[in-house]
Amino acid sequence: MSQLERHTGNVATVTYGCQMSEREADLLTEIAVQEGYQRCADIHEADLILINTCCVRESAENKILGKIGELKRLKEQRPGLKIAVSGCMVQQPDRLEWLMKRAPHVDLWTGTDQMNDFARLLRQLDAGAVVAVIGANLAIQAEDLPVAGQGRKQVNVNIMYGCNNFCTYCIVPYVRGRERSRSREDILAEIRTLVASGCREVTLLGQNVNSYGLDAQWEYDFADLLQSADRIPGIARVRFMTSHPKDLSDKLIETVAQGRSLCEHFHLPVQSGSNEILKRMNRRYTREYYLERLDKIRQRIPQASITSDMIVGFPGETEADFQDTLDLVAQADFSQLFTFVYSRRSGTAAATMPDQIPLEEKKRRLQTLMALQEQKSLAWKRRLVGQTVEVMTEGVSKNNQQRLSGRTRGNELVVFPGDVQRSGEIIRVKIVDTTAWTLIANALKCGER
Ligand code: SAH
Ligand code: SF4
Repeated sequence: MSQLERHTGNVATVTYGCQMSEREADLLTEIAVQEGYQRCADIHEADLILINTCCVRESAENKILGKIGELKRLKEQRPGLKIAVSGCMVQQPDRLEWLMKRAPHVDLWTGTDQMNDFARLLRQLDAGAVVAVIGANLAIQAEDLPVAGQGRKQVNVNIMYGCNNFCTYCIVPYVRGRERSRSREDILAEIRTLVASGCREVTLLGQNVNSYGLDAQWEYDFADLLQSADRIPGIARVRFMTSHPKDLSDKLIETVAQGRSLCEHFHLPVQSGSNEILKRMNRRYTREYYLERLDKIRQRIPQASITSDMIVGFPGETEADFQDTLDLVAQADFSQLFTFVYSRRSGTAAATMPDQIPLEEKKRRLQTLMALQEQKSLAWKRRLVGQTVEVMTEGVSKNNQQRLSGRTRGNELVVFPGDVQRSGEIIRVKIVDTTAWTLIANALKCGER
């Protein structure tokens, strides 16, 4: 196929991992569409299958390897099918060769940093080549990429890449390289384009949004960026994640408190309640400091919803350390907690630490922690029953076709009766009941309060 010819085939994308990875999958798909591919949801109807990967935990990697393995049969049935694998798993140091041996039916391997090259890689693929490029994670992506997700009501926007923190359990800094921030002008231009296409809500993404701009030593910081985003006409909601607790400034809390569209939700991963474990995780704060930050948020924004991530079974975690974690969760009043068993990632500092905890014990701790948080989530949501809240409708509820689902400003899931036509609208609903996971509401009629 010449460079001027366009594809007529279908592209189906399957993505794994965090929102940042999802956003990159969006972008790669958009580039394929610009090359002429048509989007399709079913991999059985695709001429190009794009698998965008994650490697933060072993469980994710195993699932993805299983998926890639399954595609082998599909390819035997349809020899013209092309398979592309992108993202973090491919970008891991010293992993590509192993992957290529293990999955010789894959046609294109690309990492996290070749977005600008993806169109060219697709054309090479057409010429029959097997392509593998991961490059070095050093530069910022050039800004002449398409704006993916136009026409959608909710879109994620990456504001920075990489991470400088080197938490000892985490592979991300090795895969993603050092922090690189996109300029305020480029980010705001992207949001304006999205809003012009109908978007109402954006989530600004980075591994540690609170250190936004520090790498480039700009005179504006993350709080200033949020203020600018808040002023964009037509934007109804601005969210952000992830905030590293060590860098959560009073200025940011104040900015959210005063913002119009800035949602009162802080995702503030704590990872452990034990000072000893926090030290060995290299998180650079104590539980006391963390709890003080929560107090500070709640003093200024009493209705703020705070969510967190927690790891159980970090090497050397004793029963007493785990009790400290439970104790912190009992105190912290998280509206939601994402819980993980520690996963050993080769190349990280914690992988070689002594006293790795057996899987059975890690699972037991996880169950105990999840049971505690379930009670806490329920208690949190019960306090919302009887209140009228703002919800952005997302569409038909996954579990109940008769209802719509949406999210509060605090990012809680709500289901309520309503017309599917109203997807993407911001409406007010009254919370009438709840489970630990989902708020149940009645939609209000015009004029009701
Ligand atoms: N930058 C974010 C986290 C990105 S990874 C932050 O600092 O909070 C998302 C979550 O995955 C982390 O918060 C952590 O709870 C979890 N995670 C990361 N590495 C892990 C590992 N090796 N084992 C288990 N969970 C891990
Ligand atoms: Fe990983 Fe820590 Fe960086 Fe988050 S801040 S991505 S947990 S190293």
